[in-house]
Amino acid sequence: MRDLHRPCLRLILGDQLNPQHSWFHAVQPDVIYVLMEVRSETDYVLHHAQKVLGLFAAMRDFAQQLKVNGHRVRYISIDHASNRQDVVMNLDALVQHHKVNAVEYQAPDEWRLDQDLRNWVPPSPVTVSMVDSEHFFTERDEAQQLFLGKKQWLMENFYRHQRRRHQILLTPDGKPEGGQWNFDADNRKSWPGQPAEPADTRPCHDHSALWKIIESAGVKTLGESQATTFRWPVNRTEALQQLDHFIERGLPHFGDYQDALSQHSWRLFHSLLSFALNTKMLNPREVVMRAQTAWQEGHVPLHAAEGFIRQILGWREYVRGMYWAHMPRYTTSNQLAHTRPLPHWFWNGQTQMACVASALGQSLTQGYAHHIQRLMVIGNFALLAGLDPQELHRWYLGIYIDAFEWVEAPNTLGMSQWADGGLLATKPYVSSAAYIHRMGDHCKTCHYDVKARTSDDACPFNALYWDFFDRHRSHFQTNPRLGVVYHQLKRMPEQTLQELKSFSVRTLSNLENL
Ligand code: FAD
Ligand code: SF4
Repeated sequence: MRDLHRPCLRLILGDQLNPQHSWFHAVQPDVIYVLMEVRSETDYVLHHAQKVLGLFAAMRDFAQQLKVNGHRVRYISIDHASNRQDVVMNLDALVQHHKVNAVEYQAPDEWRLDQDLRNWVPPSPVTVSMVDSEHFFTERDEAQQLFLGKKQWLMENFYRHQRRRHQILLTPDGKPEGGQWNFDADNRKSWPGQPAEPADTRPCHDHSALWKIIESAGVKTLGESQATTFRWPVNRTEALQQLDHFIERGLPHFGDYQDALSQHSWRLFHSLLSFALNTKMLNPREVVMRAQTAWQEGHVPLHAAEGFIRQILGWREYVRGMYWAHMPRYTTSNQLAHTRPLPHWFWNGQTQMACVASALGQSLTQGYAHHIQRLMVIGNFALLAGLDPQELHRWYLGIYIDAFEWVEAPNTLGMSQWADGGLLATKPYVSSAAYIHRMGDHCKTCHYDVKARTSDDACPFNALYWDFFDRHRSHFQTNPRLGVVYHQLKRMPEQTLQELKSFSVRTLSNLENL
């Protein structure tokens, strides 16, 4: 038992709202839990209003629950007079004020905070220790160990390792259920409008009072706050309801329409669980187990369960491993030397490209876009247009409700922009308009002509696509996965290529007006 007059301070970061953490199993009167709303966290990039609001609302809810359960809690709100607006500066003050003898914190997920806390020198002698966040399937360095000495980290190898290690979707003799590890080929349908997308049953909160506090504190944000009808879960109970609803209504069709795009549905059959997962209200194990059970009970087809599980057991853990293995240099990578500034319409969604306008528009209104919008619409355009990957990284890190650097940076800089030189993606994720046309319905009503390549109304994706592969020959022409592309380029008459390249130059010089 520690000395009640020399308590232990336990720091809970805004994305560590896990009520099941072993810290909370017993009430300890000599422990003070501390949560803080600080400007150093609201201001390191320009965040979406719903992201700031959602995090603060969830932190406040979490603190309240801890108090109800009998724990001692110190909550430093954004407008509190004692708030020094920085995590370690607040810790300095708390250590002195409470005459603390120990400070404990859960492993931060972001390199920035990890460094701040590791390098922190407390104002008086106290024991500082870090404990596991008890959230992920893997250790921070597990992927790095698995891929030791390998030039490229194949996600598929990591995923199979994870399936075996955690005994997910395996037959009793250790083979993949259904005879295949991956059913991706079955998950590429466009959505014909039926079955109907699941109803939005997320909670609806009025957080206008909190929003006023955030605004009065001078926090700058982007996008709509929707404070009076706030729809993201702010505690575990709400997150679990959302999980139930997804397993029941979304998961059965997740596989089929995982890669689809539609102007008539903003989320299709995606789970909307990333905010609850990344703030640790939900544990990835329980989400994976629920999907596996739904398949075992015959409620969902195997390709749906496998496709969904792969995102969480595979991709989510894999990108985290990539992040920790390559930080801090990862976030400065720019292998293709792209430097073009983001056009202004990234901040208002006003472009005539229907697919891009729709993805940007809903990002601004909802703080959310599904994976294919992020990767094959916004990211695709950005890479083809040679937009500055660092500026884009800051944009992605700010705009999405689920954006935390450990998961956002590998997805943006690695998967989407190939800025890491192909560590993560074996080939760049780019396409011409044909792919967007095949997977969605935006082209039907677009200002641009999806099939045209160099006429005045030609879809910008087409010429940019060929120009991209032509100007980056040194990086990609020997890539076996791009053999078909370079074969087509080789067969293309020189005049055609020059026309496409001239059109591409004109398009890029007119970027602001597309
Ligand atoms: P679903 O499609 O229902 O998938 C279920 C879950 O799987 C997600 O909640 C998420 O936890 C996980 N998942 C799916 N794909 C990935 C992936 N590629 N990497 C890691 N986890 C994945 N995801 C974030 O959580 N935060 C980000 O900041 C983020 N930034 C991204 C930026 C770009 C450029 C791209 C291409 C992808 C990004 N992703 C990010 C991954 C993915 O797009 C989101 O996880 C997903 O869209 C969240 O919506 P959902 O919960 O409805 O996901
Ligand atoms: Fe997007 Fe081009 Fe289709 Fe328009 S025509 S929706 S810009 S792919």
